[in-house]
Amino acid sequence: MPRISALTALLTMTLASPLFAASGSEWSYSGQAGPQHWGSLSSEFDVCGSGKNQSPVDLAGMIEGNLPEPAYDYSEPGETLINTGHTLKIAYPEGNALTLDGRRYALKQVHFHTPSEYTIDGQRYPMEAHLVHADAQGNLAVIAAMFEQGESHDALAGFSDSLPGQADKRLSLPGEGVSATAWLPERRDYYRLNGSLTTPPCTEGVRWLVMKDPVTASPAQLEALRKAIGHANNRPLQPVNARLIVE
Ligand SMILES: [Zn+2]
Repeated sequence: MPRISALTALLTMTLASPLFAASGSEWSYSGQAGPQHWGSLSSEFDVCGSGKNQSPVDLAGMIEGNLPEPAYDYSEPGETLINTGHTLKIAYPEGNALTLDGRRYALKQVHFHTPSEYTIDGQRYPMEAHLVHADAQGNLAVIAAMFEQGESHDALAGFSDSLPGQADKRLSLPGEGVSATAWLPERRDYYRLNGSLTTPPCTEGVRWLVMKDPVTASPAQLEALRKAIGHANNRPLQPVNARLIVE
């Protein structure tokens, strides 16, 4: 009998816990598993709630600095796009890299947020691309590029009509695929800050480079991505705390 009541107690506790409600590590952009609750959904997500260097933030009050010009080597095109249920993601093969502060970061994937996650002096953009890189030790460097409404985007023109609108669906990108260069503006001036992943587990220590110039896409292209993602997938702005934003 004591064993049964202990089991009952455990079950009651488990059922009542947010961890159970969110079935382990499931998270979302709204409701019970939304951004306000990420930190309590799983012990692995603690830093989402307790971190002091979280992303995104409003980029404002920039400090003048002597930022280095990184080297971009994006020669190998991405060939497959997948709807993850949280975003649209393009996987990139080996051979693409960003060299920053003398360190080589391999490009892993590019994904999209609609609307943008970072804001610049309070301005939010309709879309933001994240180019996610990791060095051999697993240190992360992410480049963010804002998209504004304007001229049609060349690479998106090839496949924005056939984006997968359901989770786990894939699309083979047309032709040779898409170079990661397509997601960057011509002028590569950037803001730099120390931040985190904007999705659970919200890992900190991420080097963020946010491009100053936006990339353009047509209203129809932006709408196509928004529709395929199916819901806003921007984490709310986080406090800057003691961080400096350098330009
Ligand atoms: Zn992202």
